[in-house]
Amino acid sequence: MSHPASKAPTRAGRPAPADLDSADPALRVGALRMELARLNYAYYVEDDPEVPDSEYDRLFSDLQAIEAAHPDLVTPDSPTQRVGGEALTAFATVTHTVPMLSLNNAFDDEEVAAFDRRCAEGLAKLAAGAPIDEAAAPPDPDAVAPAEGRDAIAYACELKFDGLAMSLRYENGQFVRGATRGDGATGEDVTDNIRTIRTIPLQLKAVKGVPMPAVLEVRGEVLMYKRDFDRLNERQRAADEKTFANPRNAAAGSLRQLDSKITAKRPLSFFAYGIGALEGVSMPATHDALMDWYQALGLPVCKERAVVQGAEGLLAFYRDIGVRRDALPYDIDGVVYKVNDAAQRAALGFVSRAPRFALAHKFPAQEAMTLLLGIDVQVGRTGAITPVARLEPVSVSGVTVTNATLHNEDEITRKDILIGDTVIVRRAGDVIPEVVGAVQARRPADARAFVMPTACPVCGSAIERLPDEAVARCTGGLFCPAQRKQALWHFAQRRALDIDGLGDKIIDQLVEQQLVRTPADLFKLGFGTLAALDRFADKSAQNLLDSLEKARHTTLPRFIFALGIRQVGESTAKALAQHFGNMDAIIAADLDALLAVRDIGPIVAESILTFFAQPHNVEVIEQLRASGVEWAEGEGLAQSQVSLPLSGKTVVLTGTLPTLSRDDAKARLEAAGAKVAGSVSSKTSFVVAGSDAGSKLAKAESLGVEVIDEAAMLARLAELGA
Ligand code: NAD
Repeated sequence: MSHPASKAPTRAGRPAPADLDSADPALRVGALRMELARLNYAYYVEDDPEVPDSEYDRLFSDLQAIEAAHPDLVTPDSPTQRVGGEALTAFATVTHTVPMLSLNNAFDDEEVAAFDRRCAEGLAKLAAGAPIDEAAAPPDPDAVAPAEGRDAIAYACELKFDGLAMSLRYENGQFVRGATRGDGATGEDVTDNIRTIRTIPLQLKAVKGVPMPAVLEVRGEVLMYKRDFDRLNERQRAADEKTFANPRNAAAGSLRQLDSKITAKRPLSFFAYGIGALEGVSMPATHDALMDWYQALGLPVCKERAVVQGAEGLLAFYRDIGVRRDALPYDIDGVVYKVNDAAQRAALGFVSRAPRFALAHKFPAQEAMTLLLGIDVQVGRTGAITPVARLEPVSVSGVTVTNATLHNEDEITRKDILIGDTVIVRRAGDVIPEVVGAVQARRPADARAFVMPTACPVCGSAIERLPDEAVARCTGGLFCPAQRKQALWHFAQRRALDIDGLGDKIIDQLVEQQLVRTPADLFKLGFGTLAALDRFADKSAQNLLDSLEKARHTTLPRFIFALGIRQVGESTAKALAQHFGNMDAIIAADLDALLAVRDIGPIVAESILTFFAQPHNVEVIEQLRASGVEWAEGEGLAQSQVSLPLSGKTVVLTGTLPTLSRDDAKARLEAAGAKVAGSVSSKTSFVVAGSDAGSKLAKAESLGVEVIDEAAMLARLAELGA
């Protein structure tokens, strides 16, 4: 272990873009190496990748292909010959006695079959006494032995965890050192940080029949569970700190903290999957046996592992995990195959940067890079405006993506995304594709910021964003076609106009067949139209018409609530009705007038003002009145003047009342000024009890609170003139 003074890794320069596409292989190789070195630095040293892995892999395989065609261009420092990272000088360095290598990758079934054939051929050559060719480039698949006529090789299959590789050194069962992979030969000493990871044992358990090894270097992956990652990012956001792009970066960034107190607060996990130095005990005969031993020693080993035979077995494992990938609690980017037998592994050995006996079979990338052509906005059923990225088509996890969500305006700012940027798009499972960030290094000079439109793209009403909300919304709630179904559902609900029989399915049909555009159209529906609806019997049609007829005669508070003004719930609707007494006064109210209403603050007032400032909303109200919707109106009273018969009284309802619904009884009592509470206390003025009244009734009796029935309540209200 040493403290290097001079070997400070630095970010490499950028190659000239033209060289990356040059027809001259030497120029292109140079440019690709320069670009890969830069990306490696961002990924391994800064834990802040600039481009998605798929883009890195594309450049890497370009380089591999040119080197394979021009072996004279291969140099020992090419990224194809070396393991990725560099040790940060901030940490002490550790020399790995057994190097920590990378893995060769496969992206399709044919490459997996070729790997299996290569292993078989290598083992056959060895059996015949010939050395295995040291060439780094994979041999021509057609030149290797076919699968038929030989014994299938047994492979241990594991998940390819998307974290960072770690070597844990145990001496006589005691944890003594944790080191990152670094460049494979030299890593960083992160012992103090490793000690904070609770699943890593500081002392190994004794295993019956196997002595404790004098030295054991456990190789494995430090990672962060998705759930822990989400929570960490939430915490970072709340503390106004930088969020992490994905669990791998979060894990790497957390582990490579100079202050282990910070690491201790980060929820890291670990899975063991390999071995470095081993002294005092002989190597288990198979990889599978090694994992079993690890488990017995108390080391975390992932249960998603299997031993399979031949290429068929490998592909079956790959498919099985592929189906379950999104449901796993941590990110994986593929599966790993390892020849199971230790003697066969030793015989196959290594090429420069990876073992011959293992292969990483990658899943289609969930992230890809493309151009952000523009940002449109979409209007949701509640009026929420979502900015949507218009993208140059790109394939992400096997699907062509042309649009992706940007969530909201703040997210765009937080992620610093401009129109014209090269962006990273992510699509995992069934989740809607999203833009996770921009590649700042590729920002063109004419990139421009997104400006939230002021008018709804669907109905032209004003777009408004309330101060305490992240989401901007269309304010044309009653009129906007995008919000039609939601507006109708809200209008018809029991607490609003109470249109019995107007359920979701009917609303869907009425809107989709363009029979209803606004709530006012409901009152124009005739029997013939309704009876013709799908799965709607004559009787249901008549019932709905009857409900509509009943709903025409409503109350002002219900009507206001039914309009679906944002921030205006039932109680604000009641306060407005009580204060202004009639609809026209509410429509005409200015900010000061609204602020004078009990419980209405600036945000609610603003929302009401904007709603009535949309001419279309007011038109719909006029149409509703014209179609016979009516309610009792009065002069209205300023709150100070309001003194209702039951003002100051608290009433509790319990049990089932004989004629009134719970909501109706509540409305009647509240209209008379009472407060309707949910539980009985000594402050309760009286309890209205129906049948099957339970504990509230018992409590009232024990406290000596007056209990009356529905009839007595109605009589009392009548007596009070309410
Ligand atoms: P790798 O990730 O393809 O494979 C080797 C690594 O896999 C090991 O070091 C280990 O950390 C990990 N691993 C996970 N599960 C394992 C298991 N069960 N058994 C053994 N190893 C397991 O190779 P690499 O050299 O670490 O990194 C190269 C990859 O990193 C690239 O393919 C690319 O996707 C990514 N990368 C991305 C950028 C970027 O800019 N986005 C830059 C550099 C590298």
